[in-house]
Amino acid sequence: MEIAVIGAGISGLSAARLLEESGHAVTVLEGSGKPGGLIRCDVVSGGLFHRVGGHIFNTKIDRVAKWFWSQFDREKEFIKAKRNAKILFEGQLVGYPIENHLYELSPEKVKRIIHELMILEGRGYKAPFSYNNFEEFLLGNFGETLYQIYFKPYNQKIWHTDLTEISLEWLEGKLPMPNYREIISRNITREGETEMVHSSFYYPFTGGSQFIADRLAENLDIRYGVRVAQIEASENKIRIEGSIYDSMIYTGDIRLLHNMLNVNDEGLVSSLKSVSSLRSNGTSNLFCETDDTDISWLYIPGSSTRAHRIINSGNFSPNNNPPEGRKTCTVEFSGEVSREDMEKEIKVLPGNLKVLDMNYEPNSYVIQTSGVREKIDHIRSKLRKYKIFPIGRFAEWEYYNMDKAIDSAMNCVDFLKD
Ligand SMILES: Cc1cc2nc3c(=O)[nH]c(=O)nc-3n(C[C@H](O)[C@H](O)[C@H](O)COP(=O)(O)OP(=O)(O)OC[C@H]3O[C@@H](n4cnc5c(N)ncnc54)[C@H](O)[C@@H]3O)c2cc1C
Repeated sequence: MEIAVIGAGISGLSAARLLEESGHAVTVLEGSGKPGGLIRCDVVSGGLFHRVGGHIFNTKIDRVAKWFWSQFDREKEFIKAKRNAKILFEGQLVGYPIENHLYELSPEKVKRIIHELMILEGRGYKAPFSYNNFEEFLLGNFGETLYQIYFKPYNQKIWHTDLTEISLEWLEGKLPMPNYREIISRNITREGETEMVHSSFYYPFTGGSQFIADRLAENLDIRYGVRVAQIEASENKIRIEGSIYDSMIYTGDIRLLHNMLNVNDEGLVSSLKSVSSLRSNGTSNLFCETDDTDISWLYIPGSSTRAHRIINSGNFSPNNNPPEGRKTCTVEFSGEVSREDMEKEIKVLPGNLKVLDMNYEPNSYVIQTSGVREKIDHIRSKLRKYKIFPIGRFAEWEYYNMDKAIDSAMNCVDFLKD
């Protein structure tokens, strides 16, 4: 088949490679000038700037690991590192996740938290997905005090959204969900974050996640600078930018598809319109020089700055830092924040930070409200008739990490094989 892939982020690149491996002819159309999407990086002042986040790789999905490592030499091209995450809590560094490090809080807070956990234990265990929304889950799982001092301020900084509006579907596999007994025993056994999803990770020696994107883009037919605005689809053919394809994989924003897709199918168009006003959050990233630290991620729940974390990507690989000078890091703010404001706000942060560059990414986090999954599934099944497949973070409206995005590309390619 002749297949068009819209977008050269990790989803589009993985799908394109997998399709080529299965013998299809693939053209990738990418709006920007280079591959990567959210995982793109640039060298700035001799250091590596992850324009969004600070992407590291790991996966618990066997087939994703097998395929990913067939594209790279794990020993020679990647570093394996352990996460050392901390929380800047009331001016002090506390281990992450906070519930495993209660012993580092004041005795007064510990007493209150344990008391509340015992009450919750007495009420009986409630499975995470039986809560109605994110706030109920946090309160029911961690108690009022931990919620008020940490989970509420931190999550409100990230989501800019009433936590009762956020559904729990996105949580699966993303956050630890310890029950009360586990919390108490982990504080006694001093188990840190070994159980966390990302407790260790792989990171390229050179080029960060751009290295991953560049490798996956090698030998693919990618047309850069082509932002697709019109797609004409019938049951047999799809026309994009003057070329005809048998099938299309879409990795862009599902909210925009109703405007792009020219198709004689009122049901489909109205389903696409039903997701056109979903909400997302952008992130503003300040690339900085920093004093040396062994911390990889520093989480910042406090209200003295809108920054919610520092990603010390200079610790992920020595090649991420300028040959002379200090290490580099990214300070991440949720939403659009001006450089001037960010520069003012980082003064309260540790590291004696000096700004090198900034980036605003309008689409970083999808906000998953209840019922979105059903809507997207419905759209997916309707698009299948036209051999159009939405995959990826903003096309499927899922809180995907890279490995889940690759897994989704694999599912799609398996479907096309059948
Ligand atoms: C702050 C942050 C930190 C993260 N950290 C990690 C991490 O450490 N590890 C991890 O595994 N994952 C991480 N993730 C998740 C990871 O970034 C995503 O899962 C992944 O990058 C999604 O890839 P994608 O291809 O689905 O989408 P995108 O990366 O958004 O790619 C979509 C591509 O399509 C192009 N495009 C869109 N519309 C069009 C159009 N109409 N025409 C042409 N081109 C178009 C875009 O330009 C873009 O290149 C993080 C995400 C964020 C926001």
